Order: sequence, then structure tokens, then C-alpha cells
Amino acid sequence: MTDTDIRTDWTRDEIADLFDLPFDALMFRAQTTHRAHHAAGEVQLCTLLSIKTGGCPEDCGYCSQSAHADSGVKATKLMDPRAVLQMAAQAKDSGSQRFCMGAAWRNPKDKDMPAIVEMVKGVRQMGMETCMTLGMLTPAQAGMLADAGLDYYNHNIDTSPERYAEVITTRTFGERLETLEHVREAGINVCCGGIVGMGETRSDRVGFIHALATLPRHPESVPVNALVPVKGTVLGDMLADTPLAKIDDIEFVRTVAVARITMPMSMVRLSAGRESMSEATQALCFLAGANSIFTGDKLLTTGNRGDDADAALFAKLGVRPMVAEEPMRVAAELVG
Ligand code: SF4
Repeated sequence: MTDTDIRTDWTRDEIADLFDLPFDALMFRAQTTHRAHHAAGEVQLCTLLSIKTGGCPEDCGYCSQSAHADSGVKATKLMDPRAVLQMAAQAKDSGSQRFCMGAAWRNPKDKDMPAIVEMVKGVRQMGMETCMTLGMLTPAQAGMLADAGLDYYNHNIDTSPERYAEVITTRTFGERLETLEHVREAGINVCCGGIVGMGETRSDRVGFIHALATLPRHPESVPVNALVPVKGTVLGDMLADTPLAKIDDIEFVRTVAVARITMPMSMVRLSAGRESMSEATQALCFLAGANSIFTGDKLLTTGNRGDDADAALFAKLGVRPMVAEEPMRVAAELVG
């Protein structure tokens, strides 16, 4: 077995052994895997827009948009598609390759689908890749998104299967997998990752990567978030002022490296938490195989580093923004 093989039969022990490697050996293996499958020194730029903020009935313990949280985030209605397309045009002008749109819903209602479809078609016509994250989908809704030309659907597994119920009680890990199946069956690429630094153990991080790397087909995008603790959320309040409030930088880099090694073809995205990450840690993440970031100074509701800071870091590191290609679609017959 070589690093160029794509495997979906990873065992937890194998993944734990990767985490345990001496740091230099782990980074060497991650970078070797990365170069076998991706252009060295290129990072994809994605822009994320909240198209419907707050008031979400789900109780994800990390999320400021949950109606169960006391975070001060105001609930808004779904944005007008014309306003979304204006934001998408700005993102394209700033060099974004992918435009990701997120709505704080348990699931979209059928009455919302025409506006969603209009957004997907409009952004795609601009030549950017499209991604939506709308919560759980029915097979019919996944089909409508596929027909509109949606390139990616984001639906994170968040954490390990065994820790899931401690973080979210309003849905199950199995329901997450069901929506991922509907997305695959519709022929839409999958974006699926999670969050570390939620007070989980190393074993949970092993379980989280194991769950992703043993899906029938690896997600095309794997966002790895570092928790941004927000006051008023369950985890934000629980972790504030504890040594667990921020994941150790080296452990975060190890998680990125293990994601790269186990899912060689996937785009591994540094997502939330980058604002408080040192340049050195981000450089190590790129070395570990991360090759995608969110641009701009805001994610859904939390801060992000901003384009100037990213341009300065890219210049220091000699990293180039990835050039957009015609969005790739997964052939439905291949994903069964
Ligand atoms: S993470 Fe998504 S599903 Fe969970 S509360 Fe926030 S907006 Fe709702």
C-alpha cells in the first residue's frame, strides 16, 4: 500500500498510529501525500455568506445561531437572491474560486427552494463553484439542487460518532449520514468535516477522522474547524476560562495532517478559528496538506483574518491562490 492509494478501509488503530507519529515523520508523510495529488504551494480561496442567519431550532452546542443559545445573534429572513448575487460578484472580484452559502435551518422548507435554486444558478453563471449548507435534505431537495447545478453540499459530521450526542441532541449522527447519502445519490460533491477543540479527547479526533475517511467515498472537501468559543453557547460557556478553551496548535496541525494522509484527494480546508491562529501555525497547516481557506473578515457570524492579512501571509510563504477551473461534477452513476 502506498500513499497514492485511496482507501476507505482505514481502521481506528491505523489512524491513531498516524496521530502518534513523531511530528517530523507525520509532516513528511502528509506533504508527500499532498504532492502526489495536489499542486504544491496552491491554496483554494472560498467565500462564505450567511444567507439566513440565526434562530435555528437545532441545539448544536458550538453554534451562536442556535435558538437555544444566548449569543445575541439576531435571526434574519432568507436573503433576496439579487443581494446574494451582488455579494457573489464581489467575492469573484476578490479572487474567490468557490462561493458557499449557509442558512441556519434544520432543513429547508419547500417554499424556500425556488430562491435557493435561483442563487445556485446565478452564482454558477458567474463561473464560480457553488456550495450550499442548508441542513438536512430530502432526496427530492437534493435532486432540485443538483438540477440547478449545485457543485458542493456542505453537511458536517462535526465530531466522532460517540461524542455526537454530547454536542447536539436535536438530531443524530445517523441523520447526518442519511443527508450525505442523498447528496451523493443526487450527484453533488460532498463537503464534510467538523470541529476540533470542543473539549474532545484525542480518541474523539481519531474517531472523527475515521468516520470521514471510511465513508463509501471521501468528501471532496474536508473543512477542519477550530472551535471559536462564543459566549452564550453551551460549549463557549463551558470552555471559557478552561485550559481546553483552545486546542493545542501542534495537535491541530496533526489533525490536518492525518486528514490529508487518510483522504489524499480531498481539499482540506482551514475554516473557523484561523483568526486567532498564528501565521506559523497556519504555515504548518499548509505544510500538513491544508489547501483551502475562507477569505474575507467574517465567516457565518464569527470573525476571519481578512484578505489583506491573507495576502501578506501568502506572500511570505510563496503560496499562490488556486486558479478556478470549470466546476467538476460527480457522475451520479459513480457514487452509488
Ligand atoms: S450549526 Fe447549523 S444546524 Fe446547528 S444550530 Fe448552527 S445553524 Fe443550526
